Amino acid sequence: MTGSPRPASGRPLIIDGCAVATVDGTADGILAAAAPPASPQTGSIGTEYQRGHLVLDRGRIAVVGPGPAPAIAGARVVDGTGCLATPGLIAAHQHLFQRLTRGLAAQRGLAGWLAAAYPVWSHLDPGLTGVAARAGLAALALSGCTTVADHHYLFPRDGGDLLAAVVAAARATGLRLHCARGSLDLGESAGGLPPDRIVAGPDEILAATERDIDRFHDPGPDSMLRVAVAPSAPAAVSEELLRESAGLARRKGVRLHTHAAEGDDEDAVCRARHGRPLIEYLDAAGWLGPDVWLAHGVHLDAAAVARVGRTGTGVAHCPSSNARLGAGIAPVAGLIASGAPVGLGTDGAANEHGGLAAELRQALLAARARGGPAALTARQALALGTMGSARCLGWSAELGSLEAGKQADVALWRLDGLGHADMADPVTALVFGPPAPLELLTVGGQPVVSRSELRTADPVTLAAQARAAAADLRRRAGLAL
Ligand SMILES: [Zn+2]
Repeated sequence: MTGSPRPASGRPLIIDGCAVATVDGTADGILAAAAPPASPQTGSIGTEYQRGHLVLDRGRIAVVGPGPAPAIAGARVVDGTGCLATPGLIAAHQHLFQRLTRGLAAQRGLAGWLAAAYPVWSHLDPGLTGVAARAGLAALALSGCTTVADHHYLFPRDGGDLLAAVVAAARATGLRLHCARGSLDLGESAGGLPPDRIVAGPDEILAATERDIDRFHDPGPDSMLRVAVAPSAPAAVSEELLRESAGLARRKGVRLHTHAAEGDDEDAVCRARHGRPLIEYLDAAGWLGPDVWLAHGVHLDAAAVARVGRTGTGVAHCPSSNARLGAGIAPVAGLIASGAPVGLGTDGAANEHGGLAAELRQALLAARARGGPAALTARQALALGTMGSARCLGWSAELGSLEAGKQADVALWRLDGLGHADMADPVTALVFGPPAPLELLTVGGQPVVSRSELRTADPVTLAAQARAAAADLRRRAGLAL
């Protein structure tokens, strides 16, 4: 089972009469130019059209341009009047397996929340994980997300093939998946937080991770499924596993992902255990570089931010999760200015909202709460959730912007309703306003959402399955129902 087939081609699809924000100017760090655009048509993140069109054909974007679309015999046409077309959003950090524990430990910070959640997660099996993943992916699709980086580090001993359940859920939902294959090797008996039954030794982990790369990773340009090597967090795994994971990823030509600087104690923990602060420890272990992206990056001082930028290490910003757990506000403006690729993530059950479009607004508000009104523009927020995430994932040649030849992953937002119609600039309306209705979402040119309805699953059925699965999980864990 390697990769997945490219979506069926079908007839060309024309989206006509919409505003278009291509986000085509951010591949080389132009995102760092924080100046507001000179006009609504010329954004600092790339080419925009007040009224334009797209032609999607054989899974790719064939044409994106101003004015009315050309007539193409046999093509399907979507009237985009009143809408804004953007690249499909990309979640650079998510944990789908956590979905069934939303609402748990609602008053706790990171460590307390994890301590409450690990014993519950340890009862997951492939059936429950599949339900969690399908429900989480449905919520992401309905929020304009076309690609999800899912950090899965939960592998109960003799618990079955949980990763295959996540992969199957992504295929059923029709979203691209960057499977960040996680691991834990420091359990309770070694002074760690997780129960021993969900940790394994480094050799076992590395062999299993290599098998997962071999069976799932598809590096091709039409890929629907890629794999990264992703130990849970520097403090949750041994130095040996961290170093060997970097070696494995580079030998196999895949990317590296982990949590970093989410909690305010990580520098102190690294100093005590390894004699240097977190970012220096990561650097020494081979964990800074253009093939690495880190989740959170909240507690980074100026020197650490500069080091992250200098090495081209990506950061997946997760503003709602950071706020929910009271973890702090990441220095996003500084990271952007440093040249680091900065993407946007939803994180897992510590963000009960679970949607990605809302993170555009949350990122904007969080950056301004920390750094003032000039800290982040609406266009920069959009760039975080599109090209910024694509750069984190190493997928920017194919995804992240609306350009001819790229994958036909498009979000078409309806902006002529009560929530947005009176705002003149569509990108401002999308980011500052309430979550916009999704007129259309395509992945590889295939409709996944149409007129706010999921085309690939029934949300009512998914909700009933998720409710039953969450109750089952609580029962297994001995929690009150
Ligand atoms: Zn996370």
